[in-house]
Amino acid sequence: MTDITEQEKAARWLESIVYEKTESLTNRNRQLRAEIEDRKRIEQDLRSTQDELIQAAKMAVVGQTMTSLAHELNQPLSAISTHVFATKMAVKQSKIDKLPSSLEKIEGLTARMGRIIASLRNFSKKQSADNPLKNIAVSDSVEQAMQIVEGRARVQKTTIENAISPDLKINADDVQFEQVLVNLLVNSCDAVASCDNRHIRVHLLSQDNSTTLIAVSDSGKGFDATMMEKLFTPFTTTKDVGLGLGLSICRSILTRFGGSISLASALEGGAMVILELPTHENN
Ligand code: ADP
Repeated sequence: MTDITEQEKAARWLESIVYEKTESLTNRNRQLRAEIEDRKRIEQDLRSTQDELIQAAKMAVVGQTMTSLAHELNQPLSAISTHVFATKMAVKQSKIDKLPSSLEKIEGLTARMGRIIASLRNFSKKQSADNPLKNIAVSDSVEQAMQIVEGRARVQKTTIENAISPDLKINADDVQFEQVLVNLLVNSCDAVASCDNRHIRVHLLSQDNSTTLIAVSDSGKGFDATMMEKLFTPFTTTKDVGLGLGLSICRSILTRFGGSISLASALEGGAMVILELPTHENN
């Protein structure tokens, strides 16, 4: 009799303990779920803030290249007006045979202006870090990026060489990869501006089954050795009007592609930026 009462007491005690523990675990679970939701919200906020920052830095590049872009557009525009004048004269003098070649030239010039505007519009597109990655040709991205920087390069008499084979593919977001290249080409333009020899080269450094290394090298003075450590820290700049965001944005974009970015010296002593990407299965 006593045994049964003792057993019942023990069972009740156990039950109450289990009840308390379950209650506290349920509460903890609820708290954890709320914390997870909070974290998800913060992560989403962080991602959209990062998207905004990337977009702001991109618009800063567009702003910086605007003067040379205006020049790039003005040039074909003046050529068009010369050809229109010549066409009018040909019509007036009934020299109809001259018309097809003039019209063809006008067509070529408007197509060139169209390409410049299209690349600017494409570059200015806001891109989200959530966009899925796709199979892209590196050489096409280099060409697009060169269109944005070309005017600036021409003004300061700098040659940009795209030595990437048309077959080289990577898994990336084309607009974001173009932004990486534009940032690096603008930096290289800045670096070579005051040098006698002004050359920038985008080339394949090496490739094996797992890793593809793409380099942007220039004939400037190279990275300041005392600053190397800090250059990926946002707002680090040695320029009077620099934002100090270019390299850190390149790094976050490359991380998203499953790759990385590092700084080195080119053989001739200039800067070399190395983009490390996973080798695409189609290569
Ligand atoms: P910003 O261009 O606005 O300064 P970045 O993050 O793109 O910001 O670059 C940070 C710094 O890295 C630059 O101010 C410059 O000192 C250095 N740097 C970047 N690219 C080169 C280069 N090609 N040659 C020499 N120094 C460079």
